[in-house]
Amino acid sequence: MSRVPLRRAFADLPPYVPGARVPVGAAAYKLSSNENPYPPLPSVVAAVADAAVDVNRYPDMFATELTEAIAASLLVAPEQVVTGCGSVAVLGHVLQAVCESGDEVVMPWRSFEAYPIAITLAGAVGVPVPVGADGRLDLPALAAAVTPRTRVILVCTPNNPTGPAVHADELAELLASVPKDVLVVLDEAYVEFVRDPEAADGLAALAEHANVVLLRTFSKAYGLAGLRVGYAVARPRLATGIRMASTPFGVSHVAQLAALASLRAERELMTRVDKLVVERTRLLDGLRAQGWTVPDSQANFVWLALGDQSSAFAERSARAGVLVRPFAGDGVRISVGEPEATDLLLEVAADSSPR
Ligand SMILES: *Cc1c(COP(=O)(O)O)cnc(C)c1O
Repeated sequence: MSRVPLRRAFADLPPYVPGARVPVGAAAYKLSSNENPYPPLPSVVAAVADAAVDVNRYPDMFATELTEAIAASLLVAPEQVVTGCGSVAVLGHVLQAVCESGDEVVMPWRSFEAYPIAITLAGAVGVPVPVGADGRLDLPALAAAVTPRTRVILVCTPNNPTGPAVHADELAELLASVPKDVLVVLDEAYVEFVRDPEAADGLAALAEHANVVLLRTFSKAYGLAGLRVGYAVARPRLATGIRMASTPFGVSHVAQLAALASLRAERELMTRVDKLVVERTRLLDGLRAQGWTVPDSQANFVWLALGDQSSAFAERSARAGVLVRPFAGDGVRISVGEPEATDLLLEVAADSSPR
């Protein structure tokens, strides 16, 4: 056994638990990782194949063409966009760029399970603030948790795994009340699925406030989870700092070209997102008709706060051929997938419904 000590902070760090994978040869629907159930478009597969012939070379370190295309689509300057190996990695780079050892990062909890890990790796200290029983972030409580040691506030909207989006008035109040030298990170991994008319507009908040950073990803709505492309949008000086913290050549040439092809196919991909939003409504309505209390979802998943029944529900669901994501003792997150998967899931849920 190695005697080399690991960092003390690692001792009580929970590992990232990936969603269950479909066993080889099994007929099962994977609703455990918020993936897009649609396979890549032919144009995206063609871009991947074209890029494959160049993999003896390092990729363009600054993903220039992709960065420009993202900037053009968001109406921001290319200097404001920093790509990375999934937005999880970009979050790590943001924290590394601004946190000194021991600085505090205020975060909602339960929220994205990568947060405590990324915060600890950056040498910072996470300050969890409970999410409401309705699954909504408590923005006044997040603002109230700020101390002189606070460097960052993480705002996950829509919140993974509970589903609701932060509203514009709530965000405006938070941004008005926190010090200007505290960074507010809006993790918008599911922004393309938001239909709530009251939802906050991250780009507008960024235009108005110099201490805002947006995180977005090609993993969910664009269906490129396997290629690892995400990005931050920030004011140029912050963006430069995030770039300095980034893994060199973090986004592969294959991933860059696939993301570019996906932006070109945006209309077709957003039609798929519309279909998933329809399916989300069917899943939510079906569960509520069975008597379940389900928080509003503005993402591609729904949340059942099953408490200590969570693991048992996930096992029953797996036996029926649907893999969901249990958070032991807390709840179960069910991604929106194929209509057949929704049907099966609703059958499982009916068997254990509260009435
Ligand atoms: C899925 C997800 C991400 C994005 O992950 P990638 O690393 O881009 O695949 C970021 N934040 C939240 C809250 C997520 O659920």
